[in-house]
Amino acid sequence: MKYISTRGKSPALPFSDILLGGLAPDGGLYLPERYPVVDEKTLASWRKLSYAELACEIFSLYVDDIPAADLKALTEKTYTQKTYHFSRDSAKAADITPLTSLEPGLHLLELSNGPTLAFKDMAMQLLGNLFEYVLARRGEEINILGATSGDTGSAAEYAMRGKQGVRVFMLSPYGKMSAFQRAQMYSLQDENIYNIAVRGMFDDAQDIVKAVSNDAGFKAQYKIGAVNSINWARVMAQVVYYFKGYFEATASEDEKVSFCVPSGNFGNICAGHVARMMGLPIAKLVCATNENDVLDEFFRTGVYRPRQTAETYVTSSPSMDISKASNFERFAFDLVGRDSTVVRELWSKVDAGGSFDLSKTPYFERLPEFGFQSGSSSHSDRLATIRYCWERYRALIDTHTADGLKVALEVRDEAVPMLVLETAQAVKFAETIQEALDLEPPRPADLQGIENLPQRVEIMDPDVNAVKAFIRTHC
Ligand SMILES: *Cc1c(COP(=O)(O)O)cnc(C)c1O
Repeated sequence: MKYISTRGKSPALPFSDILLGGLAPDGGLYLPERYPVVDEKTLASWRKLSYAELACEIFSLYVDDIPAADLKALTEKTYTQKTYHFSRDSAKAADITPLTSLEPGLHLLELSNGPTLAFKDMAMQLLGNLFEYVLARRGEEINILGATSGDTGSAAEYAMRGKQGVRVFMLSPYGKMSAFQRAQMYSLQDENIYNIAVRGMFDDAQDIVKAVSNDAGFKAQYKIGAVNSINWARVMAQVVYYFKGYFEATASEDEKVSFCVPSGNFGNICAGHVARMMGLPIAKLVCATNENDVLDEFFRTGVYRPRQTAETYVTSSPSMDISKASNFERFAFDLVGRDSTVVRELWSKVDAGGSFDLSKTPYFERLPEFGFQSGSSSHSDRLATIRYCWERYRALIDTHTADGLKVALEVRDEAVPMLVLETAQAVKFAETIQEALDLEPPRPADLQGIENLPQRVEIMDPDVNAVKAFIRTHC
């Protein structure tokens, strides 16, 4: 299996060669040259597999340059109950992504049972193990540089801690994260994890990362890499739980289900699209956004208009506060019949800060073939849905999952089971839960009192040279 760029101007490469990089050299995103199709017989034979076994079957369709036994070992090491044990019902923890039934035909698929209590752990943990393996095989090292306002940075640190050949330099805005978020990141004592708190905002931290990455000499000398959401391996890892959720919600392969996915960068739902292209019987893929409704607007109108940073709302589902849905280019490539010339044309507008409109093109007419539907949610919808879910089902959900449930209830066809992807645990967004329900969400026992642990963090001015100097001394 080779990987090609959505912009069509980069050579096709095997999996291990695209694993450590970000964008393709032509600025596009990597996708497999074709989607492996899973027939009904194979699908039936996967029904009884454990999460790790299922993951291994799916990964082996996409990865042919890692020996099967090694891929199996990496997958088994990743998807264990030891790592994903924060489930709502401890009796179901072995499922890794247990299904919670709210009522017949309406379910939550729990994806937030990993170490940082958000769905990004599902893929990031695999990435940590894959990176370590591929780097060791090549005798290479990588220094991951990132900026975070909370979720992504902690998922990356928990995935990379203690990994050979990997160092993480994670910038965060000094004093801008919650005490819980700070404790999650800064209490890690692993030698290869460096937290840098910059006196400034998230954007200042992000600008430093961009400036360092734009210094080609420094980037090459210090092997600077990233673990952003456009990484293909992250999408691949996420494909697995669409299959797992399907099996949990159905009794046979002639049934269909729908998924509703709280979306920001289009990474999670892109994996749903890939699962559907592989033949998983998905009726609808529902894209739920918050007030930042770039994606909802596209599915309703055919206009893709990324916002400027200043136009992006700060909301109570902050992990979906995006101005530009980076993974969307992958779906667009498939929508335009995998014609990279068309993608280049559309993204020449996006990259110049503009938008494009497919409404009067045959592509927009083809959209229904891909099963997408969409909707958006606001702060008051979020509060109302958290209350509804608690009062009606006694299930406590986080703000992002609430956006998903709100849209799912709106578009649901009662004849088809609807699975809402649960992307974080309520405790991570305790303030909004307080506002909605006037209660303190319970915290898993392992995370009691983490605010009191010793912290390891370097506080710095937002100065590119100071950050470079720090990286130099610690490599
Ligand atoms: C990242 C994130 C999302 C959005 O996922 P995308 O892949 O960016 O669409 C939703 N909810 C939570 C809790 C997240 O951390």
